Amino acid sequence: MKDYKGEGIVEGIAIGKIFLYQRPAVGEFEQHVQDTAAELARLRRALQQAVEEMTLRCEKAQALYEKDQAAIFEAQKLMLEDQEFIGRIEESILHDKRTAVYAVLQTSEFYADVFLGMEDELMRSKSADIRDVSSLLVRCLSQGQTDHKLLSPGIVVADSLLPGDLLELGRENLLGLVVRHGSASSHLAVLATGMSLPLIVCPDLDIEPTLEGKTLAMDGGEGLIFIEPDSSTQTLLKEKAQELIYRKQVLASTGQKLCYQGRRIEVLANVGSIEDIRQALQAGCDGIGLFRTELSFLGRRHLPDEEELFEYYSQCLELMPDRPLVFRTLDIGSDKQIEGLPLPQEANPALGCRGIRFCLAHPDLFKMQLRALLRAAVKGQPALMFPMITSVEEVGRIKALLREAADQLKEAGLPYRDDLPLGLMIETPAAVVLAPELAREVSFLSIGSNDLAQYTLAADRENEALAAEFNDRHPAVMKMISFTVEAARQEGVGLSLCGELARDVEALPQLLQLGLTRLSVSPSRIISVKAKIRQLCD
Ligand code: PEP
Ligand code: MG
Repeated sequence: MKDYKGEGIVEGIAIGKIFLYQRPAVGEFEQHVQDTAAELARLRRALQQAVEEMTLRCEKAQALYEKDQAAIFEAQKLMLEDQEFIGRIEESILHDKRTAVYAVLQTSEFYADVFLGMEDELMRSKSADIRDVSSLLVRCLSQGQTDHKLLSPGIVVADSLLPGDLLELGRENLLGLVVRHGSASSHLAVLATGMSLPLIVCPDLDIEPTLEGKTLAMDGGEGLIFIEPDSSTQTLLKEKAQELIYRKQVLASTGQKLCYQGRRIEVLANVGSIEDIRQALQAGCDGIGLFRTELSFLGRRHLPDEEELFEYYSQCLELMPDRPLVFRTLDIGSDKQIEGLPLPQEANPALGCRGIRFCLAHPDLFKMQLRALLRAAVKGQPALMFPMITSVEEVGRIKALLREAADQLKEAGLPYRDDLPLGLMIETPAAVVLAPELAREVSFLSIGSNDLAQYTLAADRENEALAAEFNDRHPAVMKMISFTVEAARQEGVGLSLCGELARDVEALPQLLQLGLTRLSVSPSRIISVKAKIRQLCD
């Protein structure tokens, strides 16, 4: 028996047979062809089949997930129609007399490398989409010889997995996923979270062919992997699985209240889609503390318009009629780029035109989103929150644009609300220092500890090499939080913490001690955070 410890990305227990998943390598198809015309015809047939298959994937994804997740496949479909991409494949067949499979794999590796070499995180993530598209094309060229549907229950172990692989495997028999490469922010993680599929990333895992068919047990919350686990490990994990289900049911049904030193503690959810809201509700969230609205703008060639956003926000509110739902307005720039809205290259994008700066620099786009939110607000009790604030002056400009948006709706005779609670994100040192003044402007503050740690410690949150320096439990960050708690208390406004620090159960005692009463975490962490708070409770 061999055990591994990786990074737990999606919580959940799974025990099952290992299914090794492999994509073909370029070298396997290195032979040359004589009849290039026949090879080109094969390619065209495969392209046609791949487009049909991708249309099905889009439909499947739309049924399974919400728009922002389904958009991954829509963007991939566009790649299959990209003339530059196809032209390069055809050239490799015609001039170098390569097989269609080789030409596809070689071309996609070329583009994947180009994207990987880019500085921007979102552009780098496109390399995975290119590989996903090429693996579908290869499958079509091999006429189903490499069909990967999982026919019996199993845990998929792979070097890496792409969104399309997941759809190929099918949800039916999929118990869990273990990959050597991936991250919490990858498309794979987004989809696995939506499917409630335990996921662990474990770079140390030895993927040997002998693993196939062996039993694997995994704890997606802790990142633990057991190969051929003994019966006591299996029993322990099964008990934990039961406990998770039980806690989910109890918490969801009773909405049990948590108190710490006489103060009610609430655990809300950070979400980015309707599916996330459903999951958060199932896990017994006390509301939505952060709706990252930019996620529905990502991975799309065309920006959503006011009507689409209005419909979307209305649906979200209909799911949460009696609990708070905080919509954070568009927070793009830096690591979050929108394909449909190319931003100018900046030397230091994290210190550039991002968050509220971007919205204030693009007032028409900002007002379009505000109008959609004000209109949808008629359906529920939302609050609006603004990211990356650094001055009181910015708040004045936001309020002026809000008034303009409301006036436009009035003029158009459309129903809307303009009495929504407003909140500001405290995620820059400037906002901490100005917290008392900012608090006087709005109804609540919310600490974004991810960016607050980044800017306080001058450590890029995206830089893996700075993992040790990017410490959101650093005493300087804790002092910033403490100062903000005091400012919110003095000014009598609400306060929450919505960065990743809120889900860190080791940090919870200190956070509660500082006086925080509202935590907002990803839906998959609600149960463990509530469980930890219950241990610390009165
Ligand atoms: C944060 O910065 O802590 C935060 C919650 O916002 P995001 O992670 O979306 O930047
Ligand atoms: Mg932030």
